[in-house]
Amino acid sequence: MLENKVAIVTGASRGIGKETALTLASYGATVIINYNGSKEKAEAVVEEILEAGGCAKAIQANVADSDSVKTMIDDVKKEFGRIDILVNNAGITKDNLLMGMKEEDFDAVIDTNLKGAFLCMKHVIRIMMKQRYGRIINMSSVTGVMGNAGQVNYAASKAGLLGMTKSLAREVGSRGITVNAVAPGFIDTEMTQVLPENVKEEMIASIPLKRAGQTKDIAETVAFLASDKAAYITGQTISVDGGMHM
Ligand code: NAP
Repeated sequence: MLENKVAIVTGASRGIGKETALTLASYGATVIINYNGSKEKAEAVVEEILEAGGCAKAIQANVADSDSVKTMIDDVKKEFGRIDILVNNAGITKDNLLMGMKEEDFDAVIDTNLKGAFLCMKHVIRIMMKQRYGRIINMSSVTGVMGNAGQVNYAASKAGLLGMTKSLAREVGSRGITVNAVAPGFIDTEMTQVLPENVKEEMIASIPLKRAGQTKDIAETVAFLASDKAAYITGQTISVDGGMHM
């Protein structure tokens, strides 16, 4: 389904990004495993893909840093010749109620989650426009759609991604580039494992399907949006949340 495609997945050393990278590779894409600090985990993802007969490479880059992102994109273009798929998945949380939220925690979340996606799209878009082909998938969140107490910074970043997705979709549609967002609900990863048990139970109770989502649920949706099967879908937000938001 994705043979001869080159994909970059940001934040692919664990969780949703890792599963997305493994899934894109299983469909035939060459996958760049971007990470910031987790070198060993990223190398392990590459190893897993190579062992399964796929093609992958790990590249360190802090998505919040423009020079770092530019170097990564230039290196990928130089080595692989093209970039077909960009999955802006890297994300962090620094939760607190507004009254206690530090300004630096607001900035850090916006810088990684929102500006990070902006920088990756900015540096990749010329390449995709020249190719007259591209698939960009931004990892938003149900929190960006519904809001969540204690996540003013995170919700702002994830809602911002939806606005960027729609705006860029309008800018580049005529060049064969689609831009979509995925809005996961409550997914079982390291990001959510740290939540207190009672919060997790409340979350699950509010989900019509009565379970946490798995990383595979998200990865398969990303793979679909990255494929030619989704060629006529752009500017959309696909909720993968067990019915949390409807
Ligand atoms: P996770 O397990 O915490 O993994 C986050 C990934 O992002 C790691 O690979 C991390 O790599 C990378 N990362 C963080 N800061 C980075 C930076 N500045 N530059 C490059 N990479 C960076 O998170 P997850 O649960 O898989 O979530 C993945 C995405 O889905 C996030 O955008 C998150 O907001 C979104 N999401 C998650 C859920 C959920 O329930 N889990 C729900 C909705 C949306 P390093 O360790 O190398 O920094």
